[in-house]
Amino acid sequence: MINAPLSELRRALDAREISAVELATLFLDRIDAANPALNAFITVDRDGALAAAREADARIAAGNAGPLTGIPLAHKDVFCTAGVLTSCGSKMLANFVSPYDAHVVALLKNAGTVMLGKTNMDEFAMGSSNENSHYGPAKNPWDSTRIPGGSSGGSAVAVAARLAPIATGTDTGGSVRQPAALTGVTGIKPTYGVCSRYGMVAYASSLDQAGAFGASAADCAALLSAMAGFDERDSTSLERPAEDYSRDLDKPLAGLRIGLPREFFGPGMADDVRAAVDAALAEYRKLGATTVDVSLPNAQLAIPAYYVIAPAEASSNLSRFDGVRYGHRAAEYGDLADMYEKSRAQGFGAEVKRRILVGTYVLSHGYYDAYYLKAQKLRRLIAEDFRAAFTQCDVIAGPTSPTTAWAIGEKSDDPVQMYLSDIYTIAVNLAGLPGLSHPAGFGAGGLPVGLQLIGDYFAEGRLLNAAHRFQQATDWHTRRPAAFA
Ligand code: GLN
Repeated sequence: MINAPLSELRRALDAREISAVELATLFLDRIDAANPALNAFITVDRDGALAAAREADARIAAGNAGPLTGIPLAHKDVFCTAGVLTSCGSKMLANFVSPYDAHVVALLKNAGTVMLGKTNMDEFAMGSSNENSHYGPAKNPWDSTRIPGGSSGGSAVAVAARLAPIATGTDTGGSVRQPAALTGVTGIKPTYGVCSRYGMVAYASSLDQAGAFGASAADCAALLSAMAGFDERDSTSLERPAEDYSRDLDKPLAGLRIGLPREFFGPGMADDVRAAVDAALAEYRKLGATTVDVSLPNAQLAIPAYYVIAPAEASSNLSRFDGVRYGHRAAEYGDLADMYEKSRAQGFGAEVKRRILVGTYVLSHGYYDAYYLKAQKLRRLIAEDFRAAFTQCDVIAGPTSPTTAWAIGEKSDDPVQMYLSDIYTIAVNLAGLPGLSHPAGFGAGGLPVGLQLIGDYFAEGRLLNAAHRFQQATDWHTRRPAAFA
């Protein structure tokens, strides 16, 4: 059951071969055994999970089960969950219990899912390695001396080590796709606005988007179908009819045009990643797709543009953490200003402070035009590049990450090296497009490599379809790390 796809879990639950309570217990026991080594979960909610599982069992008995009723899952600790700690990986929120559920959490609760707990992440979703977590880094189950990627590292680890069959994440610059790639699971970030941001602790609001982790594209499709949907409490939520992202999974790939941006296949990519990506593309050709060369001439400007826009928005979003209404408050202080200063100095980690400083600087009078406005113009050019590329192809493919998982500590003293690891994912967020990463083999040391697929707006179904056909023809996505098989 631990390794079963969602379709099999659904069948077994409906056939009463296993109850939702038994299934939840199986995963909770696995978390108890493996989490001390992996640090994938910040909070495990055994009582809440068992209560939700009992309700799911009642629904199944009454014949009211939906596709996800009784399915265990984990939420990234960026999503507010009523009554359960939402720390966002920060000391600042180490005592924060939200009085309400995020929209995505509420949708999944209503669908009858069973939340096992909340997963580890880089503080306020700022990072690419999970090392910025106040709770310590999550470990890569393929090699526990290595990072799992970030910022949604805990969710990726949970799925990779089968501590949960599916998990939610968020992706502001690659935080679903990159950890999916580095841990050998599938992850999708939909078009900006498809999932409501209500109750998702804000990092960079014009880029933040919820996403789904699963062992396969089919499992991600089932999860995303339940997460997506209009919500009037998020002004950037898109008013579109509900979609069943599983609908087109089986469509043949004959005639699919896959664009290969020459900027993604340059010298930055490690040899072992290149070999796996090339082999995956050959597999897609066997499945009937054709590949065409395309260009994203401004892609190399994505990182500088992102590291102006994201910190600018973060500096504004994080101003709400002042120790007054919620969050950490310094134990000792003089006047009000001193209380703000001490609370923020103590509550935020180094990377969060760095970004607040950068963001405040680029928004300040006299620098706004030179940095922020310039970055917004670059953002437009990057989106235009994608628009032009999609006149020549249906999806874009390339590596998700330039390297496989690196050693814990290797880049933690060099923020710029860390930022560069997101070179292939960030442009997608700047343009607001959907992106998916799926396992594409292994590199040196048996570490997973991910292939990234990028679609035009609302092409989530097509990305999932392509990945699903690939996964029917290959078995990379079924491999499990030996220590957690
Ligand atoms: N690694 C990027 C950053 O540090 C992206 C993070 C994310 O997508 N949340 O901002």
